[in-house]
Amino acid sequence: MIKASLRSHLTLWFAGLSLLTLLSVGFYVGHIATEQMKQASGNALLSTARSAAELLGAQLGERQLEVSLLSRAPLFRRGDLDDPDILSSMELRSQSRAEYAWMGVADTDGRVHQAVNNLLVNQSVKERPWFQAGLRGAYTGDPHEAVLLAKLLPGTSNGEPLRFIDFAAPIRNADGQVIGVLGAHAHWSWVTRIVDAAVLRKGTMPEVQALIVDHDGKVLYPEALMGQQLPNMPSAQGTQPNTSGWSVGNGYLTSVVAVPTSSNTNLAWYIAVRQPLDIALEPARILFYKLLMLGVIAAIVFALVAYYLALYLSRPIELLAKSAQQVQNQQPGATFPKEHSVLEIAQLGQSLEGMTQSLLGKERELQEANASLEATVAQRTAALTQANADLLKLATHDALTGVYNRRRFDEKLIECSLLYQRTGRPFALLFIDADHFKQINDTHGHATGDEVLHQLARLIQDNTRATDFVARYGGEEFAVLLPEVEEPESPEIVAEKIRAAIAAATFASVGQVTVSIGIGLAETSDSNAIALINRADQQLYQAKGAGRNRVSRNAGVTERH
Ligand code: GH3
Ligand code: MG
Ligand code: MG
Repeated sequence: MIKASLRSHLTLWFAGLSLLTLLSVGFYVGHIATEQMKQASGNALLSTARSAAELLGAQLGERQLEVSLLSRAPLFRRGDLDDPDILSSMELRSQSRAEYAWMGVADTDGRVHQAVNNLLVNQSVKERPWFQAGLRGAYTGDPHEAVLLAKLLPGTSNGEPLRFIDFAAPIRNADGQVIGVLGAHAHWSWVTRIVDAAVLRKGTMPEVQALIVDHDGKVLYPEALMGQQLPNMPSAQGTQPNTSGWSVGNGYLTSVVAVPTSSNTNLAWYIAVRQPLDIALEPARILFYKLLMLGVIAAIVFALVAYYLALYLSRPIELLAKSAQQVQNQQPGATFPKEHSVLEIAQLGQSLEGMTQSLLGKERELQEANASLEATVAQRTAALTQANADLLKLATHDALTGVYNRRRFDEKLIECSLLYQRTGRPFALLFIDADHFKQINDTHGHATGDEVLHQLARLIQDNTRATDFVARYGGEEFAVLLPEVEEPESPEIVAEKIRAAIAAATFASVGQVTVSIGIGLAETSDSNAIALINRADQQLYQAKGAGRNRVSRNAGVTERH
């Protein structure tokens, strides 16, 4: 699915809908205008055709009447077709009417007796339709090309053949017998001029063309279309013309009206007035194009308005989307528009702001909780480490004196023994026992005894090296391991140093305290550490026995007094 911004959505919809609306209005109005235009033009054509037909009908009727009246004139009734009065009477008529090309009288055999300008005199017109019809009654005929007169009359200026329409009427004598025919040929151009004039007089409609059509629908005029069959002709379908008076066909709007004629003629002509449909509908088309243009302009305007409206609506939403993304990506500076005239947008902004604030608050709380948790863990870890250290110290040290305890001493002694067995470097063990300690306890109390033990441990430690190992062996007895014995006398020196320091020290509320020290030296023959312990113990026992406050080793007790 293609994702487009809200702005493009709104703009496209607005513009599309407005274009659609205006186009449909344009097409609808255009259609109505076209129909109305057709109606109006059709009616105008009809009225033009009617007036042309009426005019032509009147003119034809008049000529017919003229010929009929002349044929019934008293001088014809005398029965003499050669009467010179007849010629002068005919000349009078034809001179007053320029449309008459010929006028003459023929007897019942068709021989012309007299004619204006003596044309065709003594020639036979027996075969001419007007003559034959004229014997029977008044006649007005379809146009035809001049057969006999063509050679006698000057040609037309445009080179078209001379054409005439014929009028004829029988000549009767006093007894009422037909003795001849009075015939007249009118120039066809006279007829066409009448029609053209009638159409031109209406004149306001452009490219309007008038046609004269015979009863079969064949065009008689204009010359260019002569003989063509006109579509939608009433007689061609045997019906009357379109009831509305006009019809559409062949690219023309056409109105056909029958030429009214007097009842005694067989003439059946129609006047067709037509106008190219393009021309007739031109105003409607122009209106349609104008509407179309208006539609396009309106669509552009609507699109612009929609674009700005969409901008107004979409900008805060785009801002919201951007800020929401910032919050999602945990970027700082996310702000939400809270003021907007569209209620939902304002609400959305406020809600998102609230959500973000609470989210940030929760995050901060979480961070703080995390930090405090870490601190607690560190604290607890430190406490645990301390407890472990304390426990370790407790496991290896003596609580009262702070020096190593018996358990640790035993381990250390084994280590030293193993090391000695491997390296052969000698090490020594001192057993230090407080003299007459029971008395101290008894005299000064157990607590003072404890203090004395503590001070004793300090003094021993102060008078040995850091590499030496001082432990409380039990009760008021201490053990010192000297791992590096450089010279055979050195254990004795260390022991003596300790003894002397203690003897020289002053113990609070007790005063003088002395110790006896037994020295044991590791020997290669020792199978285990017990032999060494026994030797040191032995020497301690020796020292006690020798009077206390002294150091004793294998060689003998060293007196220090
Ligand atoms: P000797 O000179 O023969 O060593 O005589 P002594 O009194 O020191 O020896 P003895 O074995 O008779 O007495 C040891 C006394 O040490 C007995 C006991 O009450 C006391 N003692 C042992 N451990 C402690 C202690 O942790 N604190 C106190 N205050 N006294 C202790
Ligand atoms: Mg003892
Ligand atoms: Mg003792």
